[in-house]
Amino acid sequence: MDHLPIFLNVKGQRALVVGNGTLAARKADLLVRAGCDLTIIAPEPSDDLGRLLQEHPVDHKTGGLSADDLKDCVIAFGASSDAAINQDLHDLATAAGVPVNISDNPALCDFIMPALVDRSPLLIAIASGGATPLLTRMLKARFETDIPAAYGRLAEFAGSYRERVKNSIPDMTRRRRFWETMIAGPVAEHLFSGQEVEATALMDSLLDEAATDGDKPPRGEVYLVGTGPGDPDLLTFRALRLMQQADVVLYDRLIGEGILNLVRRDASRIYVGKMKKDHAVPQEEISEMLIRLAKEGKRVLRLKGGDPFVFGRGGEEIAMLADNGINFQVIPGVTAANGCATYAGIPLTHRDHAQGYIVVTGHEKDGELNLNWDSLIQPRQTVVIYMGLTSLGTITDGFLSHGADPTLPAAIIENGTRAGQRVITGTLETLAGKASDAEIRSPALIIIGSVVTLRDKLSWFARSENE
Ligand code: SAH
Repeated sequence: MDHLPIFLNVKGQRALVVGNGTLAARKADLLVRAGCDLTIIAPEPSDDLGRLLQEHPVDHKTGGLSADDLKDCVIAFGASSDAAINQDLHDLATAAGVPVNISDNPALCDFIMPALVDRSPLLIAIASGGATPLLTRMLKARFETDIPAAYGRLAEFAGSYRERVKNSIPDMTRRRRFWETMIAGPVAEHLFSGQEVEATALMDSLLDEAATDGDKPPRGEVYLVGTGPGDPDLLTFRALRLMQQADVVLYDRLIGEGILNLVRRDASRIYVGKMKKDHAVPQEEISEMLIRLAKEGKRVLRLKGGDPFVFGRGGEEIAMLADNGINFQVIPGVTAANGCATYAGIPLTHRDHAQGYIVVTGHEKDGELNLNWDSLIQPRQTVVIYMGLTSLGTITDGFLSHGADPTLPAAIIENGTRAGQRVITGTLETLAGKASDAEIRSPALIIIGSVVTLRDKLSWFARSENE
């Protein structure tokens, strides 16, 4: 991060704005709304600044700027059209240790002003550090339309209950859950439709109920969530919602930072990654961990690359949960096969090439590939092979020795859907050599079939220079 985002309490504190025009008026307006004790140095205030001066008890000065003006100030803004005045303000503020912001002059700014969506007491601040003001504005516009004005009311209502809820439900986990039910449930609905009396009555009864249920342990739950092959944009809404309400997350090697960053910030993270051949945490232990955490009342998020039920051992993990009476949900994800194929521009089926596709694992068990070659070597079919990088040569040799056409097109996709995606194409005869020359690494997916030729035309994502 280039900046530290904070919301500063300036109520009753001194602040200074220097400038005559609209920019100065906008800063002054914000400072007034934030409740600070404002001085404005504006010898010739513009109309909008003049209006603000009339409407609010602001200390208006028309003289020049002096070091005294910064005395006891907590923050200062320069928006003068005179660069020398701005520079002066910057220097005086710096000497006095007062953070200063000069409009349209990043070099003279100790802090930047974000775009603001104001649903007080709820505030959303958006900043791009000046990199993409357009994007910032677009996001602001989106939030402005998406977030009903009533959200402010909801926040205020929740705030008025804070102490009572804290006293009635001392346990933090249960308390958070209470709030979540309240914010996403009927109390909020009443508030949004302006029925404050009903909202209050319902809130009071929920609170009584929660307070008398004190001895019951909270119910934990496990969310087995498929996160797709890597691009965070491929998450489902449901995945994202559960990720944002989990208390603890268990993840492995295939889960990238981009996705982990979307998990609720204060959820604890447990890495249970399995490097190939180096089983960091055995499967039973993972299942036991899920059970233990859920029994403690936690909402446990188990992230899986791709889809949990496709080569993910998701079935095994939740079978043990079911045996132990733990509640769980399973959220599907885009599979590596689907994600890699689309991002590589290789349709898995196509009327001119393949009527269907078959998905198998190329993982060797006890040094042996256990594949049903006859089912793989069928005309008009695409073969997708997971976990086949190590045995790529053995796989293509197997195809050839079982009578497949040596010129049958084949591709290997490394880091599919991710920023570093690489795609190597060739034939059954050439693919293994090409992949080894290109030093393809895991995770990688193999696609075999004439659909691979379509990539020449259909490739759209980060076309590799290595081809
Ligand atoms: N449950 C997952 C598969 C997990 S098995 C799914 O539904 O996709 C792990 C294998 O998936 C890897 O060895 C690799 O073959 C494949 N894979 C997963 N993510 C991938 C990616 N981003 N690019 C290429 N292959 C990937």
